[in-house]
Amino acid sequence: MQKKIFDACVAAAKERKAKRKVKAKVLWGKTIKIGPLNREIVTLLGLRDKKLNGPLCRIHEKDVSAISHYGGLAYHILSQGEYPLMRLVPENVVWACRGANIDERFHRARYAGKFGKHRLIFGEEKMDRLEIMARDFERNPMLSPSKLSKKEKISMRDKLWTEVHGFATEAA
Ligand SMILES: [Zn+2]
Repeated sequence: MQKKIFDACVAAAKERKAKRKVKAKVLWGKTIKIGPLNREIVTLLGLRDKKLNGPLCRIHEKDVSAISHYGGLAYHILSQGEYPLMRLVPENVVWACRGANIDERFHRARYAGKFGKHRLIFGEEKMDRLEIMARDFERNPMLSPSKLSKKEKISMRDKLWTEVHGFATEAA
């Protein structure tokens, strides 16, 4: 029985992978891996905010190592699940602890919306700006950095890398 379920899961995963491959082909004319590059950019955007605004978790205003043994990572103010077009927007990514990431995912209503934590923490002006940007991208997706070509994303990643680490990537 267990084996049957496992096999079904593997088959489903294979099918999803095949679908992604087809989609990537349609998008880019050839099969490329988009995911890892996006993740690299998001990680660097988190580190960039840490460098610009200090090492404290932006949600709890505490040392990330003191409040979460998992450490810190990139945190999306407008969630990347609900707003995929806001995923690579530098202003939308801050440095926070893993606990904040998890809590936001499970209690989104406490963070988002007119009376949520995000407006208290980041201010009305920034939140209005992000929400307007998200609406603009919905109307005109090609304006979003999520829609950059692979080449442009590589260039974005390399620029961020240099900004965060103070030296160029080996590939650049
Ligand atoms: Zn935190």
